[in-house]
Amino acid sequence: MNIYADNAATTKMSEAAILAMTECMENTYGNPSSLYRIGQRAKEKLEKAREEIAALINAEPKEIIFTSGGSESDNQAILSAAMIGKKRGKKHIVSSEFEHHAVLHTLKKLEKNGYEITLLPVHENGIVRTDELEAAIRDDTCLVTIMTANNEIGTIQPIAEIGSICRQKGVIFHTDAVQAVGHIAIDVKAENIDMLSASAHKFHGPKGVGFLYCRKGIILSNLIEGGAQERGKRAGTENLPGILGMTAALKEAVRDMDKHNEHKVSIRDHLIAGLSEIPHSALNGDAEKRLSGNVNFSFEGIEGESILMLLDQKGISASSGSACTSGALDPSHVLLSIGRIHDVAHGSLRLSIGEDITVGEADYIISNVKEVVEYLRSFSPVWRDLMTGKREFIL
Ligand SMILES: *Cc1c(COP(=O)(O)O)cnc(C)c1O
Repeated sequence: MNIYADNAATTKMSEAAILAMTECMENTYGNPSSLYRIGQRAKEKLEKAREEIAALINAEPKEIIFTSGGSESDNQAILSAAMIGKKRGKKHIVSSEFEHHAVLHTLKKLEKNGYEITLLPVHENGIVRTDELEAAIRDDTCLVTIMTANNEIGTIQPIAEIGSICRQKGVIFHTDAVQAVGHIAIDVKAENIDMLSASAHKFHGPKGVGFLYCRKGIILSNLIEGGAQERGKRAGTENLPGILGMTAALKEAVRDMDKHNEHKVSIRDHLIAGLSEIPHSALNGDAEKRLSGNVNFSFEGIEGESILMLLDQKGISASSGSACTSGALDPSHVLLSIGRIHDVAHGSLRLSIGEDITVGEADYIISNVKEVVEYLRSFSPVWRDLMTGKREFIL
């Protein structure tokens, strides 16, 4: 059996996306900036894609800039808002502790350049509190950037409330919606979102392409200088095959969203119920306000990396709560942000399921995770210490 349960890392491309891309590569190879018909045909497809993407999040076409993906969109949004703030003498930014590194590292860079950053706690349930957000906003705040859904624990943030607070206070609101676009409904107008980042490969589109929504009236700064593509805000010949593949994937994802979510929620909750039977385990993040595809568990007394290796041998692709940074295994900042201690965070497993997963596959995952956890505990010194009372159980 082969089960791909790492859809938060990337997704398999949809048939429609592959078809749109190959069709484009074969027939629409012109440069959208060229004035002859072959170029203009490419330009028409590009602008149609922009209209379609805009409509899917209730934006206007000229509010969409095509980029190379989520990381670029996050960088451009945050640096642009910081530049606008600087011109007005506002150099304070509010974000959260468990943002993606594309956001956190950009904020670190700004901090070195004299900006002040407030990172809100996300508490045990993995959700920012709007009263704390409101209290954190100051007269010199130029940006609030809070992700729509977390990539590790899947928790969904109160985006519409945050948007309305920011709008009232006149602060730009950016959201990294990379895990959310194509998975939960998004309406940038209703939710008062000023800037939003998305990435195609998280919703069955191709890798290396995404978009940034930027509400009209907010001036973007360029990360990439050069030609006048994307209204002068993002130079470089457009990745038309990628953009058309992304558009095909997103149209399909939005069309089938409710059906997919209903199915994934039922499988997700089945997995959560099954894995909860493992002693000294705990679900990470709110049980309900989470993405339909996300299951994240901590198991005491084991290492996440070893679970992954053993699951891989059973044909299950999943992810853990650790990241290999410069050769050392660091527990994830997300799990630490919800209060998991280092040891427990290390023994974590993220399953991010796709639309086509079956109940039988979920049962296969449950029985294999149970087996693997038991096996690893059988020779874990930490588990022995827990069992003999030398160490206290946390979960
Ligand atoms: C994947 C991801 C990104 C990065 O997107 P890329 O297109 O891979 O650069 C940013 N933020 C979140 C929440 C993600 O899940």
